[in-house]
Amino acid sequence: MLLGNIYPDYDERKIGISSQLAIKAISKAVGINKEKVVQEWKSLGDLGKVAEKLTKNKKQSTLQSHILTTEKILENLRKLPALEGKGTVDKKIALITELLTSASPVEALYLVRTLIGDLRIGIQVSTIRESMAHAFFKNEKEEAQKIQGAIDKANDLAAIFDIVKKGKTSGLGKVKVEIGKPIKAMLAQKAKTIKEGFEAVGKPCAIEYKYDGFRLIIHKKGNNIILFTRRLENVTKQFPEVADYIRKYVNADSAILDSEAVGFDKKTKEYKPFQSISQRIKRKYDIEKLQEELPIEINVFDILYYNGKSLLDEHFKKRTELIKKIIESHPYKIIHSKQIITDDEKKAEDFYKKALKDRQEGVMMKNLDAVYNPGSRVGHMLKIKPEERDFDLVITGGEYGKGKRSGWISSFILSCRDKDKFLEIGKVGTGFKEKKEEGVSFEELTEKVKPLITEEKGKNVKIKPKIVVSVTYQEIQKSPTYSSGFALRFPRFTALRPDRSASDIATLTEIKKDFGKQKRNWKYG
Ligand code: AMP
Repeated sequence: MLLGNIYPDYDERKIGISSQLAIKAISKAVGINKEKVVQEWKSLGDLGKVAEKLTKNKKQSTLQSHILTTEKILENLRKLPALEGKGTVDKKIALITELLTSASPVEALYLVRTLIGDLRIGIQVSTIRESMAHAFFKNEKEEAQKIQGAIDKANDLAAIFDIVKKGKTSGLGKVKVEIGKPIKAMLAQKAKTIKEGFEAVGKPCAIEYKYDGFRLIIHKKGNNIILFTRRLENVTKQFPEVADYIRKYVNADSAILDSEAVGFDKKTKEYKPFQSISQRIKRKYDIEKLQEELPIEINVFDILYYNGKSLLDEHFKKRTELIKKIIESHPYKIIHSKQIITDDEKKAEDFYKKALKDRQEGVMMKNLDAVYNPGSRVGHMLKIKPEERDFDLVITGGEYGKGKRSGWISSFILSCRDKDKFLEIGKVGTGFKEKKEEGVSFEELTEKVKPLITEEKGKNVKIKPKIVVSVTYQEIQKSPTYSSGFALRFPRFTALRPDRSASDIATLTEIKKDFGKQKRNWKYG
């Protein structure tokens, strides 16, 4: 609950209460009409604060007090996602109102923020990890690392807490990779050149295409296949053909495969950029039609589990050999990622050029002796791309348009990340389409962000940092206007990234680095 969640992140059961529903519940709990609550919201800008203020006023007049326990809150909140069908809204309001009527003003504040998914108390997984280490162990630093390792495997803080509270880390070793439970993907650091890449990962190393698609981690147990994105979202239903390929072409009783799903043109068979297939990730209807129109190829580049055994501690060389042994390559369905193993810089450069010609982003260079570190951005796997000016950023605000764009948000505030904070770095209003059929439209994005609005003032809104977008830009400038201290010149929206979460976006450190590089380029070139 400190993270604002009632189940582990990967669990599909979410609290999912909209601001509108919360307003109704507050209105009922404090006995004030809805319009008045909305009015308060407009002036205070935070529904939690509205609940706090109105509860305070009410308490003064009625002077009743109840005791609200964590158990009771958890009990009611966990009933919310299970509700379905007729009368759901009323039942939800009843569950929430029951809690709000017993809440003290400050409890109402945090309760409402939890309900609408906007807790904002500055606590991250790392805070909880450090607190657990501090509470239960002497050798905090070392134990914190072990705890993190277990968290990356299990992705379930409550389960880890149950082990850690006994005061021994030995139990953490028992946290096993399990088929069906998502593992966090290992992430790559950047290198500028092939030469720099070799220096970091050693010679020889594996060099692979860096495909421009989206990450899919595939779990197989017999004929049962489950697919997770890098956000640990279960997307099995969206990709029935992938389950089919795995059943047919992967020779294993059980396995966890790490892969990139890449779109290709069904006529020319040329690879297509990520944005052309991104809609498949979230789509819940017309799955077959979409599968036909936007086919994907699975490029397997790692294996984390095989026939009952975790391979996280095996060397990459062994893992990549195993892939070739157990997966039958069928182009345009499932293949081993294109790879060479070499110590020759010329060969590596040629391979890099070929990857770019094949319309991929670049290459990955991988140390052959490295283990798989779930959830870490490691220095033994590097990505190399041509100098491109693009960032993944998160939408944190917006402004409603005028004229024919009134009713839509027509300019979106973008933020980068600095540890657990989001800092503004610019506004984007280009790259969107006027009409839905042409691509991502203002209307579509407005609909997407609406449930995430936490504050409204005039035309300006604040938006919960959930929606990740890719943008290109011409230059990074220093700027006092935005909280990051930087602004992007001519930002242009290129794609929605439903496969990525706010923790995956560009960091302030990366932006500073790129800003520095820019300056150097001006000086010398
Ligand atoms: P980036 O998203 O720029 O941090 O680059 C890392 C991403 O590249 C991974 O998360 C994968 O989704 C993707 N990728 C594409 N091809 C490969 C590959 N051969 N090995 C590892 N990751 C890959």
